[in-house]
Amino acid sequence: MYICPVCKRSDRTTALSTYWRALPADRRAGVPHLARPALHDERWAAPLGLLTLGCALLLSEAWLGLVGVAGGGVWLVSLRDKVTHAARCRADWHRKQFCRRCHHDFLP
Ligand SMILES: [Zn+2]
Repeated sequence: MYICPVCKRSDRTTALSTYWRALPADRRAGVPHLARPALHDERWAAPLGLLTLGCALLLSEAWLGLVGVAGGGVWLVSLRDKVTHAARCRADWHRKQFCRRCHHDFLP
């Protein structure tokens, strides 16, 4: 058992995932901040296509290829960061504890 940082008691703490699964569907709607973070279906095709198009234009010595490569690269990096952040939030959610006494969720 983990000690709740708010009420300093451990007798009513449980894993947040266990608490969430036991909640009836109608009560889940009232506590959306406790829901498991969603992993969005990221679209990798568009930035990869832009990067590929930029490379092709660069090979044909078109200056627009630089814009395509730079734009596709920045887009891919930002998409990767977004996916990493979502995965980290999801992993934290699985580690979180929930205090049934004061309704506080916390990382142990
Ligand atoms: Zn508490």
